[in-house]
Amino acid sequence: MLTRLSDQTHNLLIDGQRVGALSGRTFETINPATGEVLAKVAEAGVEDIDAAVRSARAAFEGPWKHMRASERGQLMLKLAELIRRDEDELVNLESLDSGKPVSAIRRQDLPAVLDTLTYYAGMADKINGQVIPARTDALTYTVREPLGVVAAIIPWNFPLMIGMWKIAPALACGCTVVLKPAEITPLTALKIGELALEAGFPAGVLNVVPGFGKVAGQALVDHADVDKITFTGSPVVGRQILQGASGNLKRVTLELGGKSANIIFPDADLDAAVKAAGSGIFFNTGQVCSAGSRILAHESVYDEVVQRLAARAESTRIGNPLESSTAMGPLVSEVQMKRVLNYIEIGRNEGASLVTGGSRHGDVGYFVKPTVFANVEHRMRISQEEIFGPVATVIKFTDEADALRLANGTVYSLAAGVWSADIGRVHRFARELKAGTVWVNTYGPTDIRLPWGGSRDSGFGREHGDAAIENFTEQKVVWIQTGK
Ligand code: NAP
Ligand code: MG
Repeated sequence: MLTRLSDQTHNLLIDGQRVGALSGRTFETINPATGEVLAKVAEAGVEDIDAAVRSARAAFEGPWKHMRASERGQLMLKLAELIRRDEDELVNLESLDSGKPVSAIRRQDLPAVLDTLTYYAGMADKINGQVIPARTDALTYTVREPLGVVAAIIPWNFPLMIGMWKIAPALACGCTVVLKPAEITPLTALKIGELALEAGFPAGVLNVVPGFGKVAGQALVDHADVDKITFTGSPVVGRQILQGASGNLKRVTLELGGKSANIIFPDADLDAAVKAAGSGIFFNTGQVCSAGSRILAHESVYDEVVQRLAARAESTRIGNPLESSTAMGPLVSEVQMKRVLNYIEIGRNEGASLVTGGSRHGDVGYFVKPTVFANVEHRMRISQEEIFGPVATVIKFTDEADALRLANGTVYSLAAGVWSADIGRVHRFARELKAGTVWVNTYGPTDIRLPWGGSRDSGFGREHGDAAIENFTEQKVVWIQTGK
């Protein structure tokens, strides 16, 4: 397995070429498990973004437009084959750059990447219009046309998987893409770009431009020749993107954060519920937009849930993400670690009871122990704000109405879970919970065939499934006057 990278700079991928930034600037990406520099990466500036957008436009108007949809699908399948070939390298690179455990990448991220790619590869030649018999003296029909140049701006928590959630449907629809990975996890996006070239995608169809959000990201948002922005990240940046996109009225899809409730009733299978509640908040070190960060437990099982959850937290294997037995890696960066530790301090000061964890694990890298807070009140900041770390807040409820009020009582609406054996109750909760996804007697699974997204501060629009095809295409009506 690869454990160190060469000193070579990881260049931008623009117009089929690996190029340095026009400014000559580079930045360093860090291995969060050690705090050491992992690699030097070219830093895209405004002028590099402009070059990438121009290349994406030329590819869109040129070779990509003239390629059959089925051939686009074939290229995507070829890319999937190359990803399988280089799986070990990709897993290793993703782990080194983000701190994610290799076991999790192999079990979850990589299969999801391949599933996404092959699912949309199969869809490329099934994007149809409709004949709509509106009049008797005309043939009226619709076609679905690709939107054009797509800017995909992604976060660091699932660089490969969220990247593919955006790239695959965009390419299937016939759009071209400029992908800006988060500056702290740029390496696997570049590798995917290189594999796409090897697969035979025409130059400019997929450009990859690591850089800083305020410069490279903002330049994409401001660019007059970008047609669509698909963004996953924080609500703060989501709002900035929406404002910037108003310039040329770009289409926007926003997948933002969450503070999801995972509700446990006494009639639930408590073993399964607590197990899922643990992975619901500790998986990926809690850096998951749909993390079940608020565990709502009925008063009659509250103490037991807290105690069992704490036991799970304490038995979590935390450590070197490259070891296959590791279940939890570090947080992605020093900034994120400090942010999480600060929230733990806030929780203490607010009067919540720290049951376990609450501090760094070791003093090398950015590890924080899985943490459980009990006696959490709804009004507390740790119960309202997204921490994005391994911090569970356990909140007591008395009855269904109380549980619903708490569950729906944040600014977010991304996901929610409910555990109960009462069929009427689970249907009532499925109806009443404000969330893009409601899980019943499970927590956390997603599938590329099912629409994914939220509302309010969790953003708007849906990715995955057919919904993504609508995100990257526009309908055109053709009206042919035929006479009666
Ligand atoms: P972030 O700061 O919003 O960054 C996301 C991406 O936007 C990064 O590539 C970032 O660049 C870029 N960016 C920053 N400022 C920008 C600007 N002014 N214009 C254009 N792009 C800009 O979020 P993050 O800290 O990376 O990720 C954590 C957040 O993402 C959490 O709040 C989490 O809930 C959310 N999230 C949501 C989902 C979902 O599916 N709903 C999934 C994952 C994460 P840099 O490279 O400079 O960071
Ligand atoms: Mg890194």
